[in-house]
Amino acid sequence: MNGHRTSPAPGSASNPAPVVELRDVTRTYAGPVHALRGVNLTVTAGELLAIVGPSGSGKSTMLNIIGTLDRPTSGTVRVAGHEVGALSDARLSALRARHIGFVFQHFHLAPGRDAVDNVADGLLYAGVPLKERRARARAALERVRLGHRLGHRPTQLSGGERQRVAIARALVGDPDLLLADEPTGALDTASGVIVMELLHELNAAGTTVCVITHDNDIAESLSRRVRFRDGAVVADSGGRGAPAPCSLAPEVLS
Ligand code: ADP
Repeated sequence: MNGHRTSPAPGSASNPAPVVELRDVTRTYAGPVHALRGVNLTVTAGELLAIVGPSGSGKSTMLNIIGTLDRPTSGTVRVAGHEVGALSDARLSALRARHIGFVFQHFHLAPGRDAVDNVADGLLYAGVPLKERRARARAALERVRLGHRLGHRPTQLSGGERQRVAIARALVGDPDLLLADEPTGALDTASGVIVMELLHELNAAGTTVCVITHDNDIAESLSRRVRFRDGAVVADSGGRGAPAPCSLAPEVLS
């Protein structure tokens, strides 16, 4: 777990290392649809940021590119110090397994598998033996306060509990970076609050967290907000990795 790291993350407290660096990133789909039109973004270790903007503005496309699930049409992407464009698919899978955790709006859990095995699957590509995968899965489920639901299948869990299983699956590999795409979008308010508390806890323990959200309250509770419109960053409230904090009217950022 990040809270149990024995060696410090790269960079120093005064000059944290970039975890994500996007330079002039474009992504064009057939059509053509210009989903991203030259995005520059730096996220440094330890940040917890919200990515906001209207539907169709390119947020998920960017998160998929940061998560190395997709490649840009042009531009450069560095994740955890690796230039993604230079890596083979196999090396990209290894990078994902070692450095990145994902949480999605609709959980994406395997229906026929209990909570422990759903979480243990998060280590499938990290080359961890089954017994250790399950032991680490149980610890991750304890960490999201689901130690009493280890043998439950997704259909036996509430929406909030399912999302906590998904968070446990994302954190079981001890990622540097956690990417969450509308993690509270399918939850009631109380469950959403618990999920956000967990993301804050993970961040406090050292994980860098990027959250796409439509929820203004969530966005405003995070220290940095990056706003997309029409495939471009149109506002950045500033983070340690932002070139310079820009001064923007509150309504632009909310
Ligand atoms: P957001 O996450 O902000 O809602 P997306 O990144 O999902 O936005 O989409 C940005 C644009 O790219 C939209 O116009 C969307 O329709 C388009 N798009 C997304 N994925 C694909 C795809 N696989 N094929 C074609 N167009 C896509």
